[in-house]
Amino acid sequence: MPVVDAPTDSILHALASHGVTRRRFLEFCAATTALLALPQSYAPRIARALEDKKKPTVVWLEFQDCAGNTESFLRAVSPSVGDIVLDVLAVEYHETIMAAAGFQAEAAKDAAVAAGGHIVVVEGSVPTGANGVYCTIGGKSAVQILEEVTAGAAAVITVGTCSSYGGLPAASPNPTGAVGVPELVSGVPVINLPGCPMNVDNMVATIVHFLTFGALPAVDGEGRPLFAYGERIHDHCERRAHFDAGQFAQEWGDEGHRKGWCLYKMGCKGPSTFHNCPSIRWNGGTSWPIGAGHGCVGCSEPAFWDTMTPIYGRLPAPPGFGVTTSVEQIGAGIVGLTAAGFAAHGLIKAGQRKRAHKQDEAPIEIESATADDEEGAGQ
Ligand code: SF4
Repeated sequence: MPVVDAPTDSILHALASHGVTRRRFLEFCAATTALLALPQSYAPRIARALEDKKKPTVVWLEFQDCAGNTESFLRAVSPSVGDIVLDVLAVEYHETIMAAAGFQAEAAKDAAVAAGGHIVVVEGSVPTGANGVYCTIGGKSAVQILEEVTAGAAAVITVGTCSSYGGLPAASPNPTGAVGVPELVSGVPVINLPGCPMNVDNMVATIVHFLTFGALPAVDGEGRPLFAYGERIHDHCERRAHFDAGQFAQEWGDEGHRKGWCLYKMGCKGPSTFHNCPSIRWNGGTSWPIGAGHGCVGCSEPAFWDTMTPIYGRLPAPPGFGVTTSVEQIGAGIVGLTAAGFAAHGLIKAGQRKRAHKQDEAPIEIESATADDEEGAGQ
């Protein structure tokens, strides 16, 4: 992109300085428009927003986390325009990647918060037990830091399942009283990008939507953007034809596994998990867990450590599974039966998911695999 007539602190100027051509920039706008499930007529509007807008200030907090979402954020090998959009964000505070430390780092955070209008990204759950003593930074508890940093913020984005819903630290018996960020933040729009880790393409699209329209994308009943979590993994899985045909891998490395057959019997949780993994994939779109031969573990669902485990345990076959059973019925039945074996919390969440997605999905007929057929299929 040639030298541009744009403020030096604008996104357009930053992209130009990274050598992004006008063509690449417009291709990115078109791709992001598609990812956001918007008509292509919105692409010019997104382009204008990115050309005009100042780089947003970001404060990235880490609490009870493994830094996996930071890894996702930094994953670029050959950076796409989306990676560069993230790269040019004014990330004023990020414990893992910032050069400053100690009082200097705290001062940078305080200055960003004092200016207001910033975006807060949170990675990791927040321990509330014992007055928050299980996670303290600079002498303050995570609860205190979250309250201070989100005051005056424009938006809060939770990245990863721990910050969205509590994740692994909140799994039973939850010794630290860990909770997700939405349980503690009020008065500021919050959006959840769950997953272990979140997919950075969804983060880029969420930020671009916010910059373009001044608001976060529409969400489902779990606070997740519908453009990324509006459909089940099972509905777009590349192995779905084998599920419909009753062809299942029975053991790791068997003929069915080598042929790419369905992983349902190996514990795949795709039928009860909402995420766009099959379409955007990972590592620059090269692959994704099911494509690589491992079943979905349900990592973008609330309380999945309690309701979706054991990871290699097969989801129960719901009653009435047969030729007239719709995907909607299978998903709801699986979620219900799974949750029945665990906590009442899972049942409540399953009901919320069903309500949230009820209007979004028309039933799809399964043309094969009765319960008996399915038991004996795959060989
Ligand atoms: S059960 Fe899993 S592997 Fe099989 S089609 Fe559904 S999502 Fe894909």
